[in-house]
Amino acid sequence: MGNVLIFAEHQDGKLKKTSLELASKASELAGKIGGIAEAVLIGNNIDALANELAPYGIKKVTVVHSPKLEKYNTLGYVNALAGIVKELNPDIFLATASPAGKDFFPRLAARLDTGLASDAVDLKIDGDGKLLATRPIYSGKALVDLKIPNSKPQMALIRPNSFGVGAAQAGATAEVVKKDVDVGDMKAEMKEFVKGASDKVDLTEAEIIVSGGRAMKEAANFKILQDLADVIGATVGASRAAVDSGYAPHEMQVGQTGKVVNPKLYMAFGISGAIQHLAGMRTSKVIVAVNKDPEAPIFQKADYGIVGDLFEIVPLLTAEFKKVLGE
Ligand SMILES: Cc1cc2nc3c(=O)[nH]c(=O)nc-3n(C[C@H](O)[C@H](O)[C@H](O)COP(=O)(O)OP(=O)(O)OC[C@H]3O[C@@H](n4cnc5c(N)ncnc54)[C@H](O)[C@@H]3O)c2cc1C
Repeated sequence: MGNVLIFAEHQDGKLKKTSLELASKASELAGKIGGIAEAVLIGNNIDALANELAPYGIKKVTVVHSPKLEKYNTLGYVNALAGIVKELNPDIFLATASPAGKDFFPRLAARLDTGLASDAVDLKIDGDGKLLATRPIYSGKALVDLKIPNSKPQMALIRPNSFGVGAAQAGATAEVVKKDVDVGDMKAEMKEFVKGASDKVDLTEAEIIVSGGRAMKEAANFKILQDLADVIGATVGASRAAVDSGYAPHEMQVGQTGKVVNPKLYMAFGISGAIQHLAGMRTSKVIVAVNKDPEAPIFQKADYGIVGDLFEIVPLLTAEFKKVLGE
């Protein structure tokens, strides 16, 4: 019997949706190894968030508190969590492959002298009771199963939107334990957190993405994608060619040298489907491509394709979605 611990991330005083996703999955995995799902929350004055995890199967929340951790800090998180994780002694420890997770989790694994499966898109418990983490390799062309057989905890970073959030159990409660910690020498201090211009969900966590490529022709034309995105609750992305041409900022770039995304729906408009673009979006659950060229490689990866001019198709889709969604 062992427990499954998750790192519950929060932003602007709210738990991130990815934390609820992890909570649901941890609860399922804990059931399979005969333990409980636990969470660790880190920051300053965040006690109120602890109970929001209980409906998703979390039975115990350790709130790691320090005024010095008001803002994210790599070494501060590692220093604070290393002792807590040793004390909790979970079998499995999961975090989201968010910018913060990718930054501190590998260091924490090194500090704990254990293995880490990064960027996993699926998790299972194998026949021997060990975690089996599946992750894409070779720019997403293949999947590999990873196991950490000889050290504890077995750590994994999970791509957002890999599992979805399970149904909430109304009235569920969790034991909450508050710990004041010494963050040790943080070496550097985060002065300011600058948000991107968009108020939409970040691409890496978005459930629906509409992306434009070189075919958008100019920055102003991204307005038609934004209109569609507003109707269906999507975030707008772009190919590198669109970014390099100055049609979209780099923070919108999807691909090998941009962001890796994992939405439920990815719509690619005027994007050819180069391997470096696919590397960033090929794990999307449903891919829709609109391209004038029936031979465009994106159609080999797309679940649904429309051969046509995006400047005709996008406004038609926006109008139809408006009708269907009643806006
Ligand atoms: C090291 C390296 C890293 C890279 N990293 C990335 C990355 O992170 N992300 C990325 O995207 N790329 C990346 N690239 C670039 C990648 O190889 C491609 O050049 C790029 O993805 C092409 O972008 P695109 O599909 O928008 O443009 P194009 O390849 O020029 O395709 C434009 C498409 O639009 C179609 N089209 C034209 N007009 C219309 C219209 N009116 N309606 C509908 N369709 C139309 C065309 O048929 C064509 O298929 C990288 C390359 C290298 C070498």
